[in-house]
Amino acid sequence: MGVSEPFITSKTLSLVYRIPISRIEKFWESLKEGRVLATRCKNCQTLRFPPSATCPSCFSPDVEWVELSGEGVVETYTKIMAAPASFSGEAPYTVVVARMKEGVKVLAWYEGENISIGMKVRLLAKEEHGSLTYRFVPWDEQGD
Ligand SMILES: [Zn+2]
Repeated sequence: MGVSEPFITSKTLSLVYRIPISRIEKFWESLKEGRVLATRCKNCQTLRFPPSATCPSCFSPDVEWVELSGEGVVETYTKIMAAPASFSGEAPYTVVVARMKEGVKVLAWYEGENISIGMKVRLLAKEEHGSLTYRFVPWDEQGD
């Protein structure tokens, strides 16, 4: 106690995630086309986002693609001031959970100034830093 340990500062490590997506590849292809897709189980009708090749409710592999309308209502949100290391250059940013018109909840970053619970938001497919993603914007914005 009270003795400070000697230390060295190592190089910053960069992580590259390689996630197998062969069964949900269509999701990424659709983002390129500006569409956000969910999956619906043909057996029990459970709608799932992010899409899942296997139904989380009944474990059926028989799922179909459903395009989300993009129309959502904010259920909760948080403004991130102290970001985890992988997003440290991005803070502050706002993360929203919205219930989509189709009934499924979506968690995504929010691009806008004002936010409140019950507010209508639009879900948009985007390309950012060379990666495909999706974001919420205020309902009356079309995004850039
Ligand atoms: Zn199911």
